[in-house]
Amino acid sequence: MTPLDMLTREAAALADGQPAVPQRVIPIHAASADEAEVARLLQICNACRYCEGYCAVFPAMTRRLAFNPADAHYLANLCHNCGACLHACQYAPPHEFGVNLPRAMAKVRGQTYVAHAWPSALGALYQRAGLSLALALAAGLALFMLLALARQGTLWPTEPVKDFYAIFPHGLMVSLFAPVFGFAMLALGIGLRSFWREAPPGQVTGAAWAEASRDTLGLKHLGGGHGEGCNNDDDAFTLWRRRFHHLTFYGFIACLAATACATAYHYLLGWSAPYGWTSLPKLLGVPGGVSLMLGSAGLGWLNLRRDPLAGDPAQGAMDRGFIALLFFVAATGLALAGARGTPALPSLLCVHLATVMALFATMPYGKFAHGLYRAAALLKWAIEKRQPSRLKLAQD
Ligand code: SF4
Ligand code: SF4
Repeated sequence: MTPLDMLTREAAALADGQPAVPQRVIPIHAASADEAEVARLLQICNACRYCEGYCAVFPAMTRRLAFNPADAHYLANLCHNCGACLHACQYAPPHEFGVNLPRAMAKVRGQTYVAHAWPSALGALYQRAGLSLALALAAGLALFMLLALARQGTLWPTEPVKDFYAIFPHGLMVSLFAPVFGFAMLALGIGLRSFWREAPPGQVTGAAWAEASRDTLGLKHLGGGHGEGCNNDDDAFTLWRRRFHHLTFYGFIACLAATACATAYHYLLGWSAPYGWTSLPKLLGVPGGVSLMLGSAGLGWLNLRRDPLAGDPAQGAMDRGFIALLFFVAATGLALAGARGTPALPSLLCVHLATVMALFATMPYGKFAHGLYRAAALLKWAIEKRQPSRLKLAQD
């Protein structure tokens, strides 16, 4: 809480005839240049309010008079970079006010991935060289596995191979993936808790949960506030960003569900892979893989055409690296399903496993973390909007 928030609360209490209870001050680090820029722009927007209906950022902004770094982190993750407020703004560059909220928010959003990353050194490393790190990890792991198979003489078998576990034993795969997956989940959980605690919004209610879940799962704000979509490369509205996000998100979830089903088949029912085309892992995994591939390809295409003013140029390579990794995970997974019984199966399996492992290892530090922080920011907003305004400037 800033000193201004503290004084506002005390003044409101005195105006209500109540004793002014001294407020607890949460230490806040000095604002970075990017956080200060977000605060400057939001103070202009707070006076203007033309974009009020576009997304949740603007109503959340009107509940504040000043914006500390914690507010900037919260609002930056409430922003989904639709670009609408840039295309609508009469104070956008080249105006002397230079209002470019999507870019300022994108810069601070990138900082939140580092600020809440665990371990923090990995967050900073990914921020500096995310694309190279992800690609080097995938290539290095693939090469290692390819060489291991070549050494065994099983890289290009003469007999058809249908079973993955004939290439890499099941126990070996579990011992490789379980620690990486467990680490990724732990790091994401710690980051999410840190993000939540930075600016706790108050009591979580069922209604707030329901609204935040609906807005998150339906990507409500990618409708631009009017349902026609957001801006990508020009002033025209498009719903393709929302559609490709949906394909990517639900495709990823279906692939995860397919893996969970296959694990349950193996350990609970004693049914070993390979599974038939009508089995649950295949019924979830194949459409999930197609959806993930189409969604990530579409997001990559939109990213390349995106108005360069609307994002943070420094994060472009990191974003494209993440999208490319998702695409390769889906493409190699589908190729594997079709390569059963062919000599290409072992090498495809190596490439697929390496890309999946690189994705898991890097997911707590970039765009994937944004999905979780954004859902948390929407929940914070759903809680906050149900509370009376702390400013008490007028009838609330
Ligand atoms: S982005 Fe521009 S038009 Fe929109 S509220 Fe801010 S100052 Fe006003
Ligand atoms: S870019 Fe879109 S989501 Fe972000 S503040 Fe502007 S209108 Fe809201």
